[in-house]
Amino acid sequence: MKGEELKQLRKNIQKTEEDLKKMNAMLDEGERNCHHVWGETIYAPETIKGYFSPARGQGSHFESSLTVPDQTIKKWKRDCKLCGKSETTTKTKFEGREIPVF
Ligand SMILES: [Zn+2]
Repeated sequence: MKGEELKQLRKNIQKTEEDLKKMNAMLDEGERNCHHVWGETIYAPETIKGYFSPARGQGSHFESSLTVPDQTIKKWKRDCKLCGKSETTTKTKFEGREIPVF
C-alpha cells in the first residue's frame, strides 16, 4: 500500500472507531430504557477442554506428567424478546433445585 492509501485507511479506521463508540452508546441507552421481557432461560454450559502434559526434565528439574480433565462450567442464558439483549450467568441459588440468578 502507498502512503496516501495508508493515510486514508488510518482515517477510515478512526472514523469507524468513532461510529462504533456512538453505536455502542446508542445500544447501551436503548438497553437501559427497555423494559426487558426475558425469554426462556436456557442451560448453555461451557466446556474447557482438558489436556495431557507429558513428564519432562531430569533430576531436580523433573516434572511428572499431568492430566487435566475437561471441565464443564454451568452457564445459563436468556435473551430479551424486545431488544435482543443477551444475558449469561454462572450464579445460582438453591431452592429445592438449582435456580440461575441473573
Ligand atoms: Zn430488552
